[in-house]
Amino acid sequence: MSAPGSSRPERLPGHGCTIPVPPITPGGLDDQGKPRVLISGGGIGGLTLAILLHKANIPFLVLEKAKEIKPLGIVGFGEYVIARPELYDLLWRQIPRERILLGKKILSFTQNSEIVLVRCSDGSAYYGNILVGADGAYSAVRQHLYKDLKIDKSPTSGQVALPFSCVCLVGQTQVLDPDEFPLLKKELCQCDAILGVSTMCTWATTTTKQNTVCWMVIHFLDKHSLKRNDSFRNSEWGPEEAEALAREVRPFKVPGGKDGRQLTLGEYIDQTPRQQMSKVMLEEIVFDTWHGGRTVLLGDACHKMSPAGGAGAVTAIHDAVTLANWISTLRYATEKDVEKVFKEYRAERYPVAMQAFESSQMFIQNLGKNMRASLVRGMIKRLPHWLWRRIILKKVAPRNQASFLPLAEDNAKTKPLYQRSLHKTLAIHRELARNLEATLSNNPVAV
Ligand SMILES: Cc1cc2nc3c(=O)[nH]c(=O)nc-3n(C[C@H](O)[C@H](O)[C@H](O)COP(=O)(O)OP(=O)(O)OC[C@H]3O[C@@H](n4cnc5c(N)ncnc54)[C@H](O)[C@@H]3O)c2cc1C
Repeated sequence: MSAPGSSRPERLPGHGCTIPVPPITPGGLDDQGKPRVLISGGGIGGLTLAILLHKANIPFLVLEKAKEIKPLGIVGFGEYVIARPELYDLLWRQIPRERILLGKKILSFTQNSEIVLVRCSDGSAYYGNILVGADGAYSAVRQHLYKDLKIDKSPTSGQVALPFSCVCLVGQTQVLDPDEFPLLKKELCQCDAILGVSTMCTWATTTTKQNTVCWMVIHFLDKHSLKRNDSFRNSEWGPEEAEALAREVRPFKVPGGKDGRQLTLGEYIDQTPRQQMSKVMLEEIVFDTWHGGRTVLLGDACHKMSPAGGAGAVTAIHDAVTLANWISTLRYATEKDVEKVFKEYRAERYPVAMQAFESSQMFIQNLGKNMRASLVRGMIKRLPHWLWRRIILKKVAPRNQASFLPLAEDNAKTKPLYQRSLHKTLAIHRELARNLEATLSNNPVAV
């Protein structure tokens, strides 16, 4: 790593290429042998990891392709519903501004036994000891890693297009007048899902404490519409496609009008700033390979699940905690050390991601339009209370904690899922502290 402000050309070990190496952070080099971490993507997972690394005093840099942040959709867990812009604000506020570079779309990377070097579309290059691909469902880091690893073409290998069966239109209104939209007056956030009878759509609305309404329309695709939408794979829909779908769904009825009147989605769409509306694909897959060399994946980059289960963001956040726990134990780490902790990370997170993926599939089935969906709905309606309780408890069992921070009090009646990374890395931290103490006490004290 070069000194701050330096553009001194450096030789990339084992690569023979000479490149100008920009500093990872403007703020000085780490002298404790902690790895320098590059995070590709400043989404929910990437920012959570950044906050944790900042707290653990580990140097990092977030490279985010967007020039500005446009958070959409909602995230729910337990009793809380938080609109994504609020969550983003909360995450951003914890990270020094100079540690997040916007407009940095990662195109490719190379790695050897010592470092990883990433190249961005604006011609800049950055290097660190670890690269975290937190760059979403179409992760550039994953695609390059898999190419390097020469991974086969099985469905979960990432070398084939991601499977999807629905597209989704999401939006969030501006702040509304509760007298005009009385649902907003209710103490608890109101979530409503409506199954269309003569359309292939299901739609949902959720009120927020900020007096906005988040709305979402899921369009279940048949053979023909699947083909039409398939041409947008790996790219993003522009505002025109979102507008076109918005026009189609305007007449859909939603509850919550004044004096018992029924509203239409159109009324919410009219109150939604255009940059707060987006059309997205709902891919569903858990990839097999999560790491290689000094590169590791996190969040949607390694497991993309339908938002119907409300688990994608939470799973990404928990990935970040587990990964930060393990990274915090590394000192002067060799490639082998790094791979070892990445293996631990995957071993802990893969089963949890798989479980969240399966329950999300069940929830999306519940909203679907085919015979199977009707059967799942019928079955779900008849589930006994104890079984519902069990499903919900399983969903909230992963409650990850960071081993390098004071532990949060967990007063829930049900115990959290055993978190191997917490217990193992707590022990490693104790050992590191003991070693440091021994070193200090062995040093002669100048009087
Ligand atoms: C409509 C919708 C509703 C949802 N609702 C919920 C919900 O209620 N509850 C829930 O838990 N989850 C929900 N989710 C899922 C949740 O949003 C994701 O699981 C979560 O955002 C994943 O976080 P991430 O950090 O892995 O990826 P993302 O949040 O997708 O972030 C990836 C980041 O990487 C950046 N990036 C991409 N490529 C590059 C590149 N080449 N170089 C640099 N940067 C790059 C992107 O710009 C983005 O900022 C929903 C998803 C959708 C689509």
